Amino acid sequence: MRVIFFNAKSYDKIYFDRYLAENKFGVTYIEERLCEATVRLAEGYDAVCVFVNDNASAGIVDTLVGYGVKMILLRCAGYNNVDVKAAYKRIRVLRVPGYSPSSVAEHALALLMSVGRKTHRAYTRTRDYNFDISGFVSHNLYGKTAGIIGTGKIGAVMADILSGIGMTVLAYDKFPNKELKSVKYVAVDELLKKSDIISLHCPLTPETHHLINAKSIAKLKDGVIIINTSRGAIIDTKAVINGLDSKKIAGLGLDVYEEEEEYFYEDRSEEILDDKELVRLLSYPNVLLTSHQAFLTHEALETIASDTVDNIKACLSGKFMPNEVCYQCESKGKCDKREKGFNCF
Ligand code: NAD
Repeated sequence: MRVIFFNAKSYDKIYFDRYLAENKFGVTYIEERLCEATVRLAEGYDAVCVFVNDNASAGIVDTLVGYGVKMILLRCAGYNNVDVKAAYKRIRVLRVPGYSPSSVAEHALALLMSVGRKTHRAYTRTRDYNFDISGFVSHNLYGKTAGIIGTGKIGAVMADILSGIGMTVLAYDKFPNKELKSVKYVAVDELLKKSDIISLHCPLTPETHHLINAKSIAKLKDGVIIINTSRGAIIDTKAVINGLDSKKIAGLGLDVYEEEEEYFYEDRSEEILDDKELVRLLSYPNVLLTSHQAFLTHEALETIASDTVDNIKACLSGKFMPNEVCYQCESKGKCDKREKGFNCF
């Protein structure tokens, strides 16, 4: 079993080395992302291990299949960067859906707390020995209304946290979770109109692409705070910039960005950035952007590595693969076969 590990970082190696070596799986770490120019490096391997900004679109999936690669191992929960239709019945796609919902929800909370209470600005002020607090008047979260879009594993934790703070939590989900007691499910429009803060936790799909756009922003409360730790393209960046300019949006906390592939995880501090919208976003005092790091806790990294190895083992043994992404099931939202403990194909 030989795995080629694209887009490898030092923190990945610490955790993956241990789990892969224990199971005597061979691994080659490379820093390059998977894309058309690098897919040739996968020849001769049984599996590719990829992350959020690796590209496994249809043409790349075809090439991997041609090389005899049997598994695309996503070391992340989202799978919008893999063409699951092209992969269907040709190559297994396995992900790590539940590695640490708390890790992401707590980061969403950190963004909300910083943007809401302006602590990111206080940090730079006091480090400059400027102890003036003018401009930092904020709102309590207690007693306000939060709107959660997507109440799966991460959204549910976020809903419980915000409910614990004393917020009323409204939620919208295509497939509501009846077990989740901390939320009241409403139509998406009601959520947009009533929420003081909105946190996005749905996957990026054709349906959720630009869910936050000029039309939906027009429905928001004045002074709303938006938090996105899900995927960048759920927000239409141009529309959100207009929303910030008009002051409709009072705060924006982003861990993801529509065009992040080009920039995130790289040090570009010596460059003049070409992306005018990214530069614009970074110029606002009420925008806090982190570089897709919500997953980055020790607990999450440990589970990502162990779950990925479990995925390989399940696939090699022909046993049930609970973490397989299947084109047909994902489009239906549930799978009768999988619920009975069988693989889809
Ligand atoms: P999940 O599959 O458990 O939950 C997603 C929820 O979204 C489900 O309840 C689903 O029914 C709902 N949903 C699907 N389509 C929808 C739609 N059109 N409208 C409203 N709701 C819809 O996933 P999760 O583990 O909670 O992760 C959510 C997302 O968070 C992932 O898809 C990924 O993009 C992102 N993520 C980001 C990071 C990070 O580091 N920033 C880490 C992990 C996951």
